[in-house]
Amino acid sequence: VSSHQPLGPGREFDAVRALVLQWGSRATGIGDDAALVDVPDGERLVVSTDTSVEFVHFRREWLSAAEIGWRATTAALSDLAAMGARPLAVLTALVVPDGWRGELGAIGDGIAAAVEAASTHIVGGDLSTGSELSLCVTVLGSSKSPLTRGGARPGESLWVTGALGGPATALRSLLDGTTPAAAARGRFAHPSARVREALWLAARGATAAIDISDGLIADARHMAAASGVALAVSLDNVPRFGECNPADAASSGEEYELLIAGPGMDCVAFTREFGLALTRIGEVGPAEGAPGVIVTSGGARVEFTGGYDHFSA
Ligand SMILES: [Mg+2]
Repeated sequence: VSSHQPLGPGREFDAVRALVLQWGSRATGIGDDAALVDVPDGERLVVSTDTSVEFVHFRREWLSAAEIGWRATTAALSDLAAMGARPLAVLTALVVPDGWRGELGAIGDGIAAAVEAASTHIVGGDLSTGSELSLCVTVLGSSKSPLTRGGARPGESLWVTGALGGPATALRSLLDGTTPAAAARGRFAHPSARVREALWLAARGATAAIDISDGLIADARHMAAASGVALAVSLDNVPRFGECNPADAASSGEEYELLIAGPGMDCVAFTREFGLALTRIGEVGPAEGAPGVIVTSGGARVEFTGGYDHFSA
């Protein structure tokens, strides 16, 4: 706490003070006009920001306040993972309507838990009121050689972490007004940012990465375009969550698993380290004509039209 500047009087400052007190050692250096962050020598600063808005990204009846905080923070941290960056600091700008005021502590708990899971700290933010709950999370990280979407080269393999389809399965139940299975709900409400996994893969020669937020095939298309290559993905090899069908697994969004291009990887060693699957789902080839994704099933090319959009409220 001694690392914080004292705050003056006022309702917003009282709320900020309460959050900072609650965050304890998870928050550092709060209270000046801006945060000071050291970047390790020889590394580049990697920065991303991500906003979660009620009625656009979630509904109150679907998630606890702590889950809303966790999920928003994890989504932002996942972008650092996708860059192969080590987190340095997190800033949170919250818009909290009066009807949510009583939940601010629980939202703060979820934010702090996600920050702790990524072994980083909250160094600043902003608290405001408004008509909808909104969490804007800015993440700072660093890397000597960040992974981008543009590094995939012909001859490499495509890898995906974890199993896909849990969030889509849960979201379908929620939109149908039924109760999702606990495991699928967990993948929706409490995803993981694969920060350590990404560092492991980067250290073993990964050349490109993207986190799966729009759906595997949709995100693979981003990587193909950025890298100027053709990515061949076998639907049969896509690791599926539970009973999820291959098309749903390949279009399920907000997974926050990683799609990686790179050389051969030791999947057994990866699973031993992280308790998580690493699966080869395809390969990188030259773009014959336009870059893109070739989806196959049973050895035959299939037209893949599935995609993921944030549900429209
Ligand atoms: Mg991303």
